[in-house]
Amino acid sequence: MKSSVHIQVFTTIAQYRQWRSSLKDDGSGKPLVGLVPTMGALHRGHVTLIEQARSQCQYVVVSVFVNPLQFGPNEDFDRYPRAFQKDSEICSQAGADAVFHPGVPEFYPGGLAETTKVIPPPRLIGHLCGPLRPGHFEGVCTVVMKLFNAIQPVRAYFGEKDYQQLVVIRQMVSDLNVPIDIVGVATVREPDGLALSSRNVYLQADQRDVAPQLQAALCSIRDRTASGATSLQDALVEARNDLSRIPNLQLQYLEACDAQTLEPVTEVVRPMVILVAAKLGSVRLIDNIIVR
Ligand code: AMP
Repeated sequence: MKSSVHIQVFTTIAQYRQWRSSLKDDGSGKPLVGLVPTMGALHRGHVTLIEQARSQCQYVVVSVFVNPLQFGPNEDFDRYPRAFQKDSEICSQAGADAVFHPGVPEFYPGGLAETTKVIPPPRLIGHLCGPLRPGHFEGVCTVVMKLFNAIQPVRAYFGEKDYQQLVVIRQMVSDLNVPIDIVGVATVREPDGLALSSRNVYLQADQRDVAPQLQAALCSIRDRTASGATSLQDALVEARNDLSRIPNLQLQYLEACDAQTLEPVTEVVRPMVILVAAKLGSVRLIDNIIVR
C-alpha cells in the first residue's frame, strides 16, 4: 500500500499537464495513464475502479469534481457529499498516483451557460434517466470530454452501476473519434444487495431497509424469465406493481433494454439490461442488472 504522502494533488490543468509530461513509459506495454472520473465521497465502488486501473495502467489518476453542469436546478448539487481529505487518502490507499481536483472556475472559466457542450444522440437519452433529468447527459458528456482532454488518459474506467451513462460515453468516444479505451466495471454492492452510492448516506433507517428491494426486483425478473416460464412483459408489470406497493418508494422506471444499444425490448434478448430508478424520500437511487 502506498502512503498518503505520495499522492499528487492537482487543482489546475496546467499543474497536471506539467506532471503528465514528465511521466516515462516503463516499456511494459501497459497504458501510460488510466483515469477514474468521480464526483468524490468515495466508497468501495470507486475503490474497485481505482484498483482495476492500478492493475492495468502505469499511472492512475482519479478526478474528484462535483460537476455542476450535470445537475438540474432542483437537484442536489449543493448538498452532494464532499469529503476531499478523506477521498485523497482513499485514492492513495487504493494505489492512485494523482488526484485531479479543480474548482468550478478552473474547469468552467467562462461560466456554465456559455460553455460548448457535447450532446448525446436522442435514441440513447430519450428514455430512462434522460427525460427525468433534462440536460444531465449533456453535462456528463461535456465534463467527461473536458476531463479526457485535460488528463489525456489512454484508458478510462466507468461503473456499470450508471449503465446508461456508460453506454452514452462509449457512443461519444466512438462518434467523436476519441482515442481512449472505455472500461466498464461491475457494480459493487452491500451484502444485502444495495448498490453502493455516494447518496446512500442520506437514506434514513426505514428507507435503507427497503432500498435492497430494487436489486431484488431486478433479480426476480431475471430469474423468472430465464426459463421462459414467465414473459418479460409479465415479469416487468408484476415487479413494478410490487415496488409500487412499498410505502415511501416512488418508482420512476423499471425497463428492460438491449444491453448494447439500450433500445427497449419486450422479449428477452442477450445481453439484456434491466434498469430501475426510484426515489426514497428525496434520495434518488438507480440500479441495473445485466443478463448475459
Ligand atoms: P460518481 O462519483 O457517483 O460519479 O461515480 C464515479 C464512477 O464510479 C462512475 O463511473 C460510477 O459508475 C462508478 N460507481 C459508482 N458507484 C459504483 C458501484 N457501486 N460499483 C461500481 N462502480 C460504481
